[in-house]
Amino acid sequence: MNEIEQIKEILALPKDIVILTHRNPDGDALGSSLALKLFLEEQAHSVKVILPSEYPKIFHFLPSIESCAVYDLNQEYALEQIEKAQVIFCLDFNGLDRIDKMGLKVQESNAKKILIDHHLDPEPFADFQFSDTKASSTCELVYDFIENLGQKEKINVPIGECILTGIITDTGSFKYSTNPRAYQIASQLKERGVDDYQLNDKIHNTLTEKQLRLLGHCLANRLELIPEYQTGIISLTKDDYHSFKIGRGDTEGIVNHILMIDGIKVAAFIREQPTIVKMSFRSKGDISVADIARNHFNGGGHKNAAGGAAYASLKDIISRFKKELPNYIDKIETL
Ligand code: 5GP
Ligand code: MN
Repeated sequence: MNEIEQIKEILALPKDIVILTHRNPDGDALGSSLALKLFLEEQAHSVKVILPSEYPKIFHFLPSIESCAVYDLNQEYALEQIEKAQVIFCLDFNGLDRIDKMGLKVQESNAKKILIDHHLDPEPFADFQFSDTKASSTCELVYDFIENLGQKEKINVPIGECILTGIITDTGSFKYSTNPRAYQIASQLKERGVDDYQLNDKIHNTLTEKQLRLLGHCLANRLELIPEYQTGIISLTKDDYHSFKIGRGDTEGIVNHILMIDGIKVAAFIREQPTIVKMSFRSKGDISVADIARNHFNGGGHKNAAGGAAYASLKDIISRFKKELPNYIDKIETL
C-alpha cells in the first residue's frame, strides 16, 4: 500500500489530531496549518493547531486562527494535547528542534507522524514524509496532499484563503521560489472564489506606523553595504528594540529590502535580542545562505532564505559574518 493509501486508512475514522508548526510562525506556517485543520475538521476529526510562539497580528484575518493554542502561553495544555494525539502533523519545519520542548513529546509519542515541508534535509522522525524543496511553500504541498487524498473538491474559500496566503508570503507575492504548480494552484483557488486582491491587501498594506518608521530607521541608519561581496547588512541593537518598542513581528520583511539594491545578492538582518542574537539571511541565485546559517550560526533554512541564532555579542556576530563572506561569495572589483 502506498503512503497516501495508508494515510487514507488512518484518517478513515475520526481521530484526535494535532498540527504543529515552527516557532515564530509565518504566513506559510499558519496558512498550511489552518488549511489542513479546516479540511480535517470537515472530515469529523478533532483538530488542534499548536504554535510554539504567538503569531504576528497581521495574520488575524486567517480563518480559525483564534483557535490556535500557543505553547509559550500554556505549555501544560500544549504538551497534554500532543500526548493524547493519535495523529501528529508537522508542517513547514524539518527538525524537532524547531518546536522547542514540544519536540521531545513528539519524539516520545506513539501517534502517527506526518511531515509536510519544503525545507532542506528533513530529519527522519516522521512515519510519513512529504518533503519537497522545490515546492514554493508548505501550503502548496498541503493542497497537493488534499488532492492526493482525492478530496480536492473539499477545498472551499476559507481553506483556499489559508493556502493562498502561504503561497503569497513564501514567494514574496510570486517574486521568488515559484514553480508552475504554485501558479496553477493560485489559478484554481481564484476560480473557486478566493479573492487574491483582498488577501494581498491584508498581507501587505497593514503595517503599523511604527513598523514603517522602523524600516526607515533601518534603511537610513543601520544599513551597511559591502559592495565587493555584493552584501548588505542591517543590524539592530537592544537600544533600538527599546526606543522603537519593537515587538514580535515588527521586523518582519525588513531583510528583503536589502536585496532591492542593484548588485546586492546577499542580505543579512542581525538583531540583538535580550539573551540571543538572531539572524535572517536572504540571497539571490546560487549563493546558499542556508550553508552560511548552518555552518556558522546554528541555523539553517532554504538556499535563498535562512536564519540562525547565537549567544554572542552583536559586534562579534557581524564580524564573524563578514569574515565568512569570502568563503561563499567571489570578490568582485568595485569602482
Ligand atoms: P526568517 O528570516 O524569515 O526568520 O527565516 C527564514 C527561513 O530561515 C525560515 O523559513 C527557516 O527555514 C529558516 N530559519 C530561520 N531561523 C532559523 C533557525 O534558527 N534555525 C533553522 N534551522 N532555520 C531557521
Ligand atoms: Mn514555508
